[in-house]
Amino acid sequence: QQDTFKQVIAHAKEYGYIFSSSEIYDGLSAVYDYGQNGAELKKNIKDYWWKSMVQMHQNIVGLDAAILMHPTTWKASGHVDAFNDPLIDNKDSKKRYRADVLVEDYAEKLNQKAEKEIAKAKKRFGDAFNEEEFVSTNPRVLRYRKEQKEVLERLAKSLTEEDLADVKALIEELGIACPETGSKNWTDVKQFNLMFGTKLGASADSATDLYLRPETAQGIFVNFANVQKTGRMKIPFGIAQIGKAFRNEIVARQFIFRQREFEQMEMQFFVRPGEELKWFEYWKETRQNWHRSLGLGNDNYRFHDHEKMAHYANAATDIEFNFPFGFKELEGIHSRTDFDLKAHEQHSGKKLQFFDPELNKNYTPYVIETSIGLDRMFLAVFSSALQEEELEGGTTRTVLKLPAILAPYKAAILPLVKKDGLPEIAEKIVEDLQWDFNVTYDEKDAVGRRYRRQDAAGTPFCITVDHDTLEDNQVTIRHRDSMEQQRVPIAQLREIIGKAVDF
Ligand code: ATP
Repeated sequence: QQDTFKQVIAHAKEYGYIFSSSEIYDGLSAVYDYGQNGAELKKNIKDYWWKSMVQMHQNIVGLDAAILMHPTTWKASGHVDAFNDPLIDNKDSKKRYRADVLVEDYAEKLNQKAEKEIAKAKKRFGDAFNEEEFVSTNPRVLRYRKEQKEVLERLAKSLTEEDLADVKALIEELGIACPETGSKNWTDVKQFNLMFGTKLGASADSATDLYLRPETAQGIFVNFANVQKTGRMKIPFGIAQIGKAFRNEIVARQFIFRQREFEQMEMQFFVRPGEELKWFEYWKETRQNWHRSLGLGNDNYRFHDHEKMAHYANAATDIEFNFPFGFKELEGIHSRTDFDLKAHEQHSGKKLQFFDPELNKNYTPYVIETSIGLDRMFLAVFSSALQEEELEGGTTRTVLKLPAILAPYKAAILPLVKKDGLPEIAEKIVEDLQWDFNVTYDEKDAVGRRYRRQDAAGTPFCITVDHDTLEDNQVTIRHRDSMEQQRVPIAQLREIIGKAVDF
């Protein structure tokens, strides 16, 4: 697992997807830059989300609110008082950790032990293996799963009750050691606010304290009435937004999974009070379908319904993804009741209600939120796409099997040799195709090496111009995943690529 993850990070750098931020100055911890290919992949994920959420829903509209917001926003939202992470220090190593993450990692290890037992049995019994029966009868699996559940339940309970002493007790009871040094000498658990502060204005006395937004959702809530009125929106309707958010995260690891500067794709769906659970189910299913449509493997996803819930929520689930370091939250779907709009009404004194003509009355709408981290989605796509394949003859190839619709370049155009007029034809193909697709040209090295380079970069099609092209106006199109090659007329390229990448 550790090795796969290292490979993912190395590959992301080598192929221009992700660099450490300000790397020439040794980087900034938990901050990353997206390179030439990363910027494209990220943009394609955003477009795919935006199209399915905004363009395909007549009752959902977009928004692009500012990162800097009036400071009262964060009082109303609860972030000033309650946006805290429980921290624990190791007294010997002086290293700081998130107490809840230490416990979650412990629980995940139990889960991995159970998975190992299942995998072993699968191997042993072959076709005769009945997983359902095994999982419900094998004493070891049952014990690991039970302990995992108990640990997580106890953690959830102590976090909701904010009984931080109990979190510490749990860490000690489980014998959790400092991951770096193995020491078990812990301090008490403390709360730490995650918001980044900054100042508005030049002179010290007149400056106002502001925060960089820790989530994009509040920009949507404070604009509820603006959008509803000017867009003449009727309930149910949604507002969607993609934008940066900032959190001063303490556990600065796991690459782009947990960053201090990251992007969210959020949608707040406003509904009639009493209908929220119906819509909660609707969005659970709709978001699941969105993920499945990308073909990253249905087994890589699971729902995690929350027992621990924010006090204002009446239903919450996470869509978890099987990252290289195990199943972790990728997207949250929350039924937030009327908590946010009511809180902003109270703090601003402005009405944030909707007149429902069918019911002939005013009310504060309830909210279902879908919130996905763009960077986490990037990591999900990238890490599941990266594969080492054994080929005939004992060789291997590294291939990045990105969904074609998300791939940075849709096709690479390759002249077989750098002479005899082949480059000119290849360049002409580039000029024609670039109106519709992001394509690239490559003439360096033998064509086999160029294929491998494009495989590793994630390009779904290679188009090779050879000497026969001069006669028949046909080219060879090679498919990244199957490595199949096909002879097709140049005039058909647009249609073939279009079919694979259209959405
Ligand atoms: P976690 O428990 O992992 O810290 P969270 O429950 O605090 O996440 P939310 O506040 O629900 O996360 O944010 C919604 C989404 O934003 C998450 O599902 C995740 O994909 C993304 N996200 C949150 N924090 C980060 C971060 N530090 N870096 C990257 N993405 C993040």
